[in-house]
Amino acid sequence: MNIAIDGPAGAGKSTIAKRVSKKLGYVYVDTGAMYRTMALYFLRNQIDGSDEKAVSDSLDAVSVEIRYVDGEQKVLLNGEDVTSLIRTEEVGNMASATSKYPAVRAKLLELQRDLARKMDVVMDGRDIGTTILPDAEVKIYLTASVEARGKRRFEELQAKGVACDFEQIKKDIEDRDYRDMHREVSPLKQAEDAYYLDSSDMNIEEVTEAIINRINER
Ligand code: C5P
Repeated sequence: MNIAIDGPAGAGKSTIAKRVSKKLGYVYVDTGAMYRTMALYFLRNQIDGSDEKAVSDSLDAVSVEIRYVDGEQKVLLNGEDVTSLIRTEEVGNMASATSKYPAVRAKLLELQRDLARKMDVVMDGRDIGTTILPDAEVKIYLTASVEARGKRRFEELQAKGVACDFEQIKKDIEDRDYRDMHREVSPLKQAEDAYYLDSSDMNIEEVTEAIINRINER
């Protein structure tokens, strides 16, 4: 059984997917982390993210692997565990800029499908229900307003003591949404058979419960 959760940045996919996978005893697969791992390679090697040829030509030198340690996903870049290095804005922006290239997506497609073949997974991303796992038993499209997502991100950064500007955060979210939804290959969109869930006015427990109910119905 596989569960696909897609949606824009900041909708709470990873928090929710982790909870749902724990409740069901499934493995959580974070596909954004894979794009971020590749992005870290491009940054470290000064590969220009806007140069499709340079990015595509470099891919033979990049290996991305996934390991599970105590149920937690670890990502390996050419054998090095980079899990704790990929959560920066810089890496996120590079991932968003380079995930539109077909060669980048092709490189991760088999890795993602292979994980879902071997295990029961809750996989989150942008194109899981539409492209990677079109036969997933349950598909969720989890979204929230730009305002709500901006507020969550703002509070998260403030709690960490990072100086930030609410309007700028909202603008970054809008820009990333636009890029993810308007690229040619596998743009972010709701699969026809996906369950639409707007979490703007819901808390984590409510969203988790709505998804578990949906799974139980199947
Ligand atoms: O979800 P996360 O913010 O970690 O993803 C980083 C970037 O990777 C996204 O902005 C998106 O461009 C890309 N991505 C994607 N397809 C996925 C997961 C992530 O294109 N399945």
